[in-house]
Amino acid sequence: MKVLVINAGSSSLKYQLYDMRDESVLASGRVERIGMDSSIVTHEPAGKPEVRDVSEILEHVTAVKRVIDMLTHKEHGVIGSMNEIDAVGHRIVHGGEVFKSSVLVTQDVKLEIRRLFDLAPLHNPAHMMGITAVESNLPHVPQAVVFDTAFHQTMPNTSYLYPIPKVLYRRHKIRRYGFHGTSHSYVSGQAAAYLGMPLKSLKMVSCHIGNGASCAAILNGESFDTSMGMTPLEGLMMGTRSGDIDPAIVPFVMNKEELTLNEVNSMLNKHSGMIAISGISSDMREITEAMEDGDKNAKLAFDMYVYRLKKYIGAYAAAMNGIDTLVFTAGVGENSAAVRKAVCEGITFLGIELDDERNAIRSKEAREISKDSSRVKVLVVPTNEELLIARDTYELVKAAHSS
Ligand code: AMP
Repeated sequence: MKVLVINAGSSSLKYQLYDMRDESVLASGRVERIGMDSSIVTHEPAGKPEVRDVSEILEHVTAVKRVIDMLTHKEHGVIGSMNEIDAVGHRIVHGGEVFKSSVLVTQDVKLEIRRLFDLAPLHNPAHMMGITAVESNLPHVPQAVVFDTAFHQTMPNTSYLYPIPKVLYRRHKIRRYGFHGTSHSYVSGQAAAYLGMPLKSLKMVSCHIGNGASCAAILNGESFDTSMGMTPLEGLMMGTRSGDIDPAIVPFVMNKEELTLNEVNSMLNKHSGMIAISGISSDMREITEAMEDGDKNAKLAFDMYVYRLKKYIGAYAAAMNGIDTLVFTAGVGENSAAVRKAVCEGITFLGIELDDERNAIRSKEAREISKDSSRVKVLVVPTNEELLIARDTYELVKAAHSS
């Protein structure tokens, strides 16, 4: 079975075509600048050179058509015809409280995703455009949706409720949902497999630290708590997002600086975090380089980032009454030995002993970076959200065929 994975944004669409026999990626690519002139399609067929094509792509229906054209092209295509695409899986940011796992797309599912537009106004409408664009291009192909929030639906109410008037939860569903669920789910499974232990027996903290960043407390294989909240703004300090701040700062700043709701939202989401404190960049590579060159603001940003991450790991160790596995993933987690070292060196009391040599090794494989004597196993596990989306889609379609 061949599964096409799609991550549709408002002006972009990323794709991967998987052959599920061996879970190999036949091709991947992205369409950028949808709705603008000079839209760009970048197509990377396995084993062949990358292709770039610039044309005018005004909406998602055409974007998906261009993807199919690329996949079936006689030179840089990887399949003979679009009939070889057996299923399509979509990444959906918000599944609210309704979706606790991945599902096949039906009229009811589409209705529910639309109902959730309020909770994810930047993401869910774009994902919906991706679903309808696939429907128009591949009307007979089953589609599945995989939600960033679904993995965290196991959180107890002590984790997901905010201590604010309860009517707000009843009326508006204001609660913690958490995000990066596909990634936390994937890396926790990979970590257990690497350790040769049943996932259900582990107390794990998973740190997905990339441009966006979140920690998850994973108890017996289920999400017990996570640092992102009703939106992806809460929790850790991120590239451009503040993470946790005193909520009273918002009305105070709006009043003093005469900011509108949109402006304060933009300040906290786009102009805070690492970029605000370093004054240099949101990118950990540039911050680490500047810090090594003696830049004090870069060092402060790095130290705050690490400090806040350590606090969450400690909090989740307390929440689960212990921890036996710590996992790092995503851009910073997979690549920054400096961040991993600074974090681990500050929480040795938990039973963490980092092995500096192992930590310095660069690899695309899951690996242990703690010493053999370390009571808590510290792992680096490269995330692969697309593969999990392909797997869920494959399983759902296979189950539907056999029922
Ligand atoms: P992601 O959102 O998972 O793609 O992560 C992107 C972020 O990973 C970038 O903004 C960088 O800050 C970080 N990153 C990638 N490579 C490195 C590296 N070699 N060292 C430190 N940070 C890195």
